Amino acid sequence: MTKVITARDAEELLRKGEAPPPGSILTPSARDVLGGGSLQPAFKGSGGGPARKPVEPATPDYEFKWKAGADPTTPAEIEKFFRSPAVQGLKERICDIGRRLWQREYTDGNGGNITIRVGDNLALCTPTLICKGFMTPEDLCLVDLDGNQLAGTRKRTSEAMTHFGIMKRQPAAKACVHAHPPHATAFAIANVEIPSCLIPEAEVFLGPIGVAEYRTPGTPANADVVGEVGRDHQAVLMQNHGVIVWGKDVDPAYWKMENIDSYCRTIWIATGLGGGLHRFSGSQAKELVALRQKLGMPDPRAELKECELCDSADFRPGVVCPTPAAPDRPDAGAQPDPQIEAVVRAVTDQILKQLGAK
Ligand SMILES: [Zn+2]
Repeated sequence: MTKVITARDAEELLRKGEAPPPGSILTPSARDVLGGGSLQPAFKGSGGGPARKPVEPATPDYEFKWKAGADPTTPAEIEKFFRSPAVQGLKERICDIGRRLWQREYTDGNGGNITIRVGDNLALCTPTLICKGFMTPEDLCLVDLDGNQLAGTRKRTSEAMTHFGIMKRQPAAKACVHAHPPHATAFAIANVEIPSCLIPEAEVFLGPIGVAEYRTPGTPANADVVGEVGRDHQAVLMQNHGVIVWGKDVDPAYWKMENIDSYCRTIWIATGLGGGLHRFSGSQAKELVALRQKLGMPDPRAELKECELCDSADFRPGVVCPTPAAPDRPDAGAQPDPQIEAVVRAVTDQILKQLGAK
């Protein structure tokens, strides 16, 4: 019997790295899927076959979709899946994101890590002890969500468990990126809340920024703390550590890394101007939350009242106060002597009195 290959079948073949059986008939959309190659995104909204014109404007969608309950299990299936064109394409994109992280100085040394979920209990991840700027697809690892390594010659990063702490709690988190971007990390080590209601794009694309209490990196405790915060926050500031962001795909996850560091850098520059920060209103913030939800991104702020949206009272921009003198530097930040102050005041009063008497 002649087999008809649908777009869904074609995606499955692509995932397994197999060709359609000889003599099978391909639907036009299946032809699109197979003809596009593993690195081509599926286009939402365009649909149809090649004959349909004009092509409607669409948004590229790289989200990796797998069939539930069909993870490869035998060593041969796992290895075949790990080498399949679809997974090879994802490995190349992870390497590309690694380069961008390193070029923007969001990682130093062997810092940072990237994961993409590729099955019910499968994820690609970066290896430990590697500079993210110069990875090749052969460096990457395949692991299950408990961290057991299934494929790849290099050992997986220990921080993958933090990513999986989020992925296990939030199915929409299909890719996570962790790094130490200096401006956002400065807020994380100064323990300063990142203020809201300053730049509309930050409200829409970052959403509310979560803060996860410090735990030792790579430990189950860290995975739990970050996972709980990451469930409802796509960008999480990890106290005394760095940032972890997630998305349905590795690109939109990575964009948030750029967004948060630029946002923090801009706030830092703006506070130095000395004029305070001008915030937009709660009702204007409400419009941005609605916009974010319209774009399909989760937002716990939807439940908040307008007056709560810009409420980050703890933030004190650019405070400059005299510091108490350190014991080894008696002059540093010394306070005026109260006795001298009193004499100066008395003399000034006398002069003003005499001037007034004339
Ligand atoms: Zn780290």
